[in-house]
Amino acid sequence: DAARVLAVRAAPLGTRYVVVLANDLTESIRLDEVSRDFIANISHELKTPIGAISVLTEAIESSVDNPERVRRFAEKMTAEADRLAALTADIINLSKLQADQALHMPELVSIDAVIDHAVRDNAVVADARQVTIARGKPTGLTVYGEESLLAMALQNLVSNAVQYSPDGSRVGVGTRLVDDTVEIQVTDQGVGIPKEDHDRVFERFYRVDGARSRNTGGTGLGLAIVKHTAQNHGGEVSVWSQPGNGSTFTLRLPVATGDEGISAPTSAER
Ligand code: ADP
Repeated sequence: DAARVLAVRAAPLGTRYVVVLANDLTESIRLDEVSRDFIANISHELKTPIGAISVLTEAIESSVDNPERVRRFAEKMTAEADRLAALTADIINLSKLQADQALHMPELVSIDAVIDHAVRDNAVVADARQVTIARGKPTGLTVYGEESLLAMALQNLVSNAVQYSPDGSRVGVGTRLVDDTVEIQVTDQGVGIPKEDHDRVFERFYRVDGARSRNTGGTGLGLAIVKHTAQNHGGEVSVWSQPGNGSTFTLRLPVATGDEGISAPTSAER
């Protein structure tokens, strides 16, 4: 209906304008649907930990004379509160990363520094699980972008590699230059991902194994954040994986040429 009203009002402007306006409208309806789905998913995801915290509060109240039960319930409550905090942080991170949005304050970013950051952030969990994170030699490669976003993206890939791998296994992080693209690969020896899920894992809240992801504190948003960050930097992310044979996630980013951010001289400057 909105399209028809628009067409009638815009008719005096000529057919070309009607087509342009109708296309804009279709795109805005599509975006509305995507954001409605996202909000429905968010409500669903938030309800679970909030409901659990509320039940656990009642359980603690009725267990005051049993310190052991109180301790157990309080531990569970901390885990649910942590999950709520992680979910809130990821929702905020993702909403800041609208696809194709221009970068805020781009600068030259060292890929070695981004990898350092991601490996350091995962060291405690990896140690606890005796997972070795083996990183390749520093390459000195740089890309043009936002270090905090790139560090968060790689942190998510390394954290997934550790999370979905057996104790005592090995996670590799390597970098190479292919033509004018920096490729960062994160490889694990974990559970792997069936082929039919390779594209879907980058969707918001999609999980191959929901129970496993939630039990390990996963928000279901990590790979969507990686995908949007890659796209905002003019790059992409993909996965190679076979169930039982581990996974390799590859983040591809345009290598810095050194000319970024330098706008062409105006005619007055020339
Ligand atoms: P989550 O918080 O659930 O890990 P992600 O968006 O990071 O959310 O990942 C989406 C899903 O992709 C995960 O739930 C998991 O099923 C699968 N996945 C991601 N990384 C890996 C990996 N390295 N090995 C196996 N499965 C993975």
